[in-house]
Amino acid sequence: MSKVNFLKKLRFPNVFILLLIVFISCALLICINIFTIKILSANRAYVNGESHYSKGQKDASRHLITYLFTKDKNQWKLYQEELKVPQGDGIARETLLKAGDNEVARKALLVGRNHQEDLDDLIWLFVNFKQVSYLSKAIHEWGQGDQLIFKLFVIGEQINAKISHNILTIADQKKFLQEISILSDKLTVNERNFSNTLGEGTRKIKFLLTIFNVIFILIIICSVCLYYSIMVKRLLFSKKETEAKNENLILVNHELDRFVYSASHDLRSPITSLKGLIEITQLEDDVDQIKEYLSLMYQSLIKQDQFISDIIDYSKNKRKQIIMEPVSLQDLFSEAISQLMHIENANRITFRQELLVDQIQSDGLRLKIIISNLLSNAIKYADITKQEMFISIKTYIQEGSNKIEVADNGIGINDEFKDYIFEMYYGTNKNKGSGLGLYIVKEAVENIKGNISVFSESNIGSKFIVTIPNAYGT
Ligand code: ADP
Repeated sequence: MSKVNFLKKLRFPNVFILLLIVFISCALLICINIFTIKILSANRAYVNGESHYSKGQKDASRHLITYLFTKDKNQWKLYQEELKVPQGDGIARETLLKAGDNEVARKALLVGRNHQEDLDDLIWLFVNFKQVSYLSKAIHEWGQGDQLIFKLFVIGEQINAKISHNILTIADQKKFLQEISILSDKLTVNERNFSNTLGEGTRKIKFLLTIFNVIFILIIICSVCLYYSIMVKRLLFSKKETEAKNENLILVNHELDRFVYSASHDLRSPITSLKGLIEITQLEDDVDQIKEYLSLMYQSLIKQDQFISDIIDYSKNKRKQIIMEPVSLQDLFSEAISQLMHIENANRITFRQELLVDQIQSDGLRLKIIISNLLSNAIKYADITKQEMFISIKTYIQEGSNKIEVADNGIGINDEFKDYIFEMYYGTNKNKGSGLGLYIVKEAVENIKGNISVFSESNIGSKFIVTIPNAYGT
């Protein structure tokens, strides 16, 4: 992964993770709420059932007492009818404890006057949560209540037996009345405990539900805020990137305009002079003069050739991707020198070479452009008035970077021109060049993340030093 991409990733964590968090939190929130609503609805059904249980038990006690004193068989039937309610619940409890969800338990719960639609919730809560502290406590109270209901049933049977055999005494009546009252009181306590325990459980569940809701809502809000802030940052970042690219495009366009304008002009000028020379040559009879014109034509064509080769270099440098490969500097210099020997006076120049670095890892095409342009300039701008003309070529390593040095004892560069020599179409002598050479060199050097510096003194000579980093990230 490139450094830039890594930094981008650091700055912008993957938003899909945030969306996933929001999605999971929402799903959990929905599940927890549905689950809690189901538990609370079952709790409500139990509280409802308990009130039927309690009412049934109380009504049964009341009818039994009335029967005890009036011996009215109707009261006895009513007592039996009412007692079936807590008894039904009791059967349901025992069956559920032993066998889980089954038809017997469902029927028994209906006898206990529970609503048909509450059956599923009642049984689901009982079967799945009977071990949970608050429910197991409530079931325990319920069990104790059932034992008392059984005792009431036994007392009822005893009373009925005595009345049927007509042996019920006043003392019996008092004793039974007292027993029924004691049972009733105990049952009231049980029933209250049952309701309280369920109420306590409901409150706990509500509290937990509120906590979970708050936590998940906070997670969702934070994730959404983070998501939006990342998206806004991304937008700003890409806006800046687009602006920078636009600026760059404007520059490139501008540069291209200048290039096309000057190129068309510079391409035409040697042709125009060639045409003129041909015209006057046709009219000329003097062989020496014709030779002179031919030499001028040759110069024009060389200029044209140089300019076209500069344009090709410019286009290659712009278009071609950087390819890092092993490059021999020695080979590049030898090749360039042999190709540049056609330049006027090149054969009079002494080439000194001190190549301490040969093989390097870099882009061959760019290095070829750089070396060939620097050497051709050193040859073009040699000082022919000097006794000995030389070009010194050096390669070496300095501060961990490869250096290429091309120095000459040529005409040098005036201080006033030094700042402009790397600009497009800047040339001090239009007969010698297109003014593109050093501009292309600078671009090529920047392409391989290097830099170039120039030291020059008029009439003494010039030295160009190119620094090529050993390795760089793409
Ligand atoms: P040109 O095609 O005119 O040579 P360049 O971009 O290669 O264009 O060079 C720009 C100008 O820099 C040249 O016109 C020349 O004045 C100056 N220059 C470049 N190299 C040298 C050198 N080795 N010695 C003296 N002057 C140089």
